[in-house]
Amino acid sequence: MSLDVFRFENLSRLTGVVHAITTRHGGVSEGRCESLNVSYLVGDPTENVDENLRRAADSVGARRDDLFSAYQVHGRAVTLVEPEAQPEPRPRCDALITRSPEKALMLRYADCTPVLLADTRRSVIGAVHAGWRGSAVRAAGAAVEALGQAFGSDPRDLLAGIGPAIGPCCYEVGEDVVTAFADRPWLFAGKRLDLWEANRQALIEAGVPSEHIEVAGVCTQCQSERFFSHRANGGQPAGRFAALIRLAC
Ligand SMILES: [Zn+2]
Repeated sequence: MSLDVFRFENLSRLTGVVHAITTRHGGVSEGRCESLNVSYLVGDPTENVDENLRRAADSVGARRDDLFSAYQVHGRAVTLVEPEAQPEPRPRCDALITRSPEKALMLRYADCTPVLLADTRRSVIGAVHAGWRGSAVRAAGAAVEALGQAFGSDPRDLLAGIGPAIGPCCYEVGEDVVTAFADRPWLFAGKRLDLWEANRQALIEAGVPSEHIEVAGVCTQCQSERFFSHRANGGQPAGRFAALIRLAC
C-alpha cells in the first residue's frame, strides 16, 4: 500500500535521495490521532505508533529500525548521525544530519516547520524541526552550517524544502513571539507570523541560493484534514506527522 505523502519537486528530481512528508492518512490510529500518528507521547497506544512508523519508514524505502529521530527541544543544536548510532536514547535536538545510507532521518510535527536538506554534489542530507522558537534562532541555518563543518558541504550546492506548517494565514502569535523576532519585523502581518518565510530567509542567510529553496505553501491548520495541527486540535494533544529523508545507495 502506498501512503498519501507530500513530496517536494526539487528533492524528488535529485537522484540518490528519497524523502517524504507523511499525512494523517494511511495509518491505524483512531480518534484524535487518526490515523497515521508517529508520536509515542500523545496518548496513542504503542502498537499503533509502531505500525504507523513501519509504514512511514516504508515511504522512503526504509525499515522501522533504520529510523533515527530526536527528542525535539525547540533549539538550534544539530546532531551528526553516524552509521553505528543507536536510536535510543534520542538526542535532544531539532536538526539531524548524516552521510550514512543506513539511517533514515525522521522528525515529528504538528504545525512546526519541516525543513529538508540535500547536497547535490556530496551524498549528505539533513532534517530540521522549527517552530517559532527554532525559527527565531535560525535552526535551519544551523543545519546548513553543520553540513559545511561536518562534510564540507557548500551551501550553494544544497537543495532545501520547507514543508507543510502553520501558515501566515493562521499563525496569530503573542507578544513573546513578536519579541523573539524583534530583528525581523517584516515577517509579521499584524500579529500573524510567517514561519515559512522565516525559514526561507534563514536558509538564504546561510548561503543557500533562493532558487534552490522550495516552499510547500501548505498550511497545516487550513488543511487539518490532511495534516495534524496543534492549533486546529483545540487544546487536545494532536497527533504528529513525520518528515523523512534518506540516502539511497
Ligand atoms: Zn492557514
